[in-house]
Parts: sequence; structure tokens; C-alpha cells
Amino acid sequence: MSARYLSRFKFVILLLILIAGGLLAGCSRDTGTEPAAPIAVDRPNDESADVPAVNEPLVQMLPTPAASLSPPPSPTPAPTMTGDPVRAAIVATQTAAANPPTPPISASTPAPSLMSEPMPTPSGVYSWTLKVPILMYHYISEPPPDADVYRVDLSVAPESFRQQMAYLKDNGYTPIDFYDLSTAIVAQTELPEKPILLTFDDGYLDSYEVVYPVFQEYGFKGTFFIITEFVDSEREGYMTWPMIEEMAQAGQRIESHSRTHPDLATKSRDGLIWEILGAQETLAAHVGYRPRYFCYPGGTYNEETIQVLQELDYWGAVTTENGSWHGFNDRFEWRRVRMRNTTTIEEFQRLIDLEGAISGKKPG
Ligand SMILES: [Zn+2]
Repeated sequence: MSARYLSRFKFVILLLILIAGGLLAGCSRDTGTEPAAPIAVDRPNDESADVPAVNEPLVQMLPTPAASLSPPPSPTPAPTMTGDPVRAAIVATQTAAANPPTPPISASTPAPSLMSEPMPTPSGVYSWTLKVPILMYHYISEPPPDADVYRVDLSVAPESFRQQMAYLKDNGYTPIDFYDLSTAIVAQTELPEKPILLTFDDGYLDSYEVVYPVFQEYGFKGTFFIITEFVDSEREGYMTWPMIEEMAQAGQRIESHSRTHPDLATKSRDGLIWEILGAQETLAAHVGYRPRYFCYPGGTYNEETIQVLQELDYWGAVTTENGSWHGFNDRFEWRRVRMRNTTTIEEFQRLIDLEGAISGKKPG
């Protein structure tokens, strides 16, 4: 081989090396911009292990992207409402009424800031099953004289209700909401020592007239499941949108109970979407956040109902079945504790005491 051919050969080799180097550099750049693989976090089962604060490491810790999630509810009134002086006066009154009663929270539970942070997407990879009573109320009023047995059974007398709430207050219970519960289940954040969830189905007028003032006095928060068409049509005996909006601004949680309260187990897929998505969008327009929790009307549902709820980014749903353990896998079938007309204060204490295992938890 002549020297000329040899140098041309060297040149070709050099060129090949340069091209290969460039390709490799390109590859490594690509790798750098790819989404990070889910980070497996080895969570010890030891309950005393240090649980990270919700608002920073959590988002990186959970493997599911949160991009599709809109911000969770904020109890702060929307600033756009302050333009009109009349409106401003209403907002000022509501804000004054709303802010003082901050529910007592244990030092390790950053509940208020939680609501302004992106909600961790339930991953189910690391989760607890928690024993937290979810009380199910309907009417908080005396039933009318002609009421049938069902109506009577669904009615708790205002005096009994006040007695029950006073018992919770005096005995160190802290009402939480479903956002707190989900976060505790999937992210293993600590709940207050005696957590309890107070739910009110159907959006009756007494939720505003009886329950809300008691909650403001005690700094309690409840979850109110609303049937949106009943409110749209201003049905007698139900709350109005201004009442519901005021409660939402005061930190009460407004969640979905469908548009018309049908038997969802008999609905077609389109019918389910109309009922479930419709209610969610209507509520979002009124309360300023997208409700993530659902209450099955009449307690009826099937696999397709759950499927549609998941597709519409709901995070959980409650039934009318009895029970108090709640985990990630059964999040669309969380059970509740029924409050009846005949529930005495002694029975109330027994129902929420749960054999002394309040705030019990087990991996699962
Ligand atoms: Zn209902």
C-alpha cells in the first residue's frame, strides 16, 4: 500500500471515529431529556419511620405524573370576586367568618398547605389501609309529621347532632376531608390522632342552616355531596348555589352526588358520563375546584360506574355499606357509618370508637 493510500485510509478512519463520537454524544443527550424513570422508594414498614413532609419530596417520590391534575380546592375566595362593592362586602363577611375556625391539626399534618399543593396521584404502590370512621348523615332536622319510615330514619334531630359534634370536640376528634384521607393512604402522611370524616348526602337546606353554623363554631370541616340539577332547578328544601359557594369558600368540601340522583347501575355509558361528568363540571364552575370524590346515589353502582369515575379523574367514592377501613384498592367503594334517627349518644360513642383502634393502620 502506498503512503498516499495509507493517509487517505487514516483520513477515512478519523472521519468514522468523528461520526461515531457525534452519534454517541447525541444519544447521551437524548437520554438526558427522557422523562425520569419512576423512582422506587423503599419505604420501611416501620410506622415510626420519618414520614416526609407533603409539600416537597412527595411529588418526586410518587411514580405517576401529575401533569393532568388541576390544583386541588382552595378555601380562599377568588380574587376576581372583589371587583363589585356589594360582592366585596359579601366576600369580606364570608372571609371573616371563614378564617378563624381552623381545625386543630397535629404538628405533622400540613393540612392547609396541602390544599394549595398538587395532589399526589394515588399510586397504590406504597399505601396504608386506615381505620377512619366516615359518618353518613342526610337530614339534620325533625322529620315532617307525614314522613315515612325511611325519611324518619334518615333524619337526625338538630339537638342530637349538636350533642354528637360537641362530643367530637370535647374528646379530641379532628374532622378531616377525603383529600386528607387519600394523601394519608397513598403517601403515608400522618393524620391527626382521632381523625373522622363527616359526610352529608343530597345537599339539604339544613346542611346550611344547622350543620354549617355548628362547623363554623367548632372549626370543623365536612363533606357535602350535592345533586347539581336539584340546585339548578332551585328545588325546595335544598341548598342554593350562593349557600354552597359560601360554604366552599369557608373551607367546607363540596363533592359530587350526580346530576339527578338516579340508579347508576341501570345507566348506559353515555348516561353515566352525563350524570357524573355533568355534575363535576357544574360543581367546578361554582366552587372553584374540580370535585374528586363521588357518592353513589342510593348506594347503587356497578363496575362500569367505577370505570367511568376513574376515566373522569375521580379519586374515590363512598357507598352506603357499613365499614371503617379504607385503602387504595377499595377507594371507589369506601364504606361509611350510618347515622340514624335513633342513634343515641352512647351508640355514637361506640360507633366512632371502633374498638379503640382509631387511626389504626396496616400496610395494604
Ligand atoms: Zn342521596
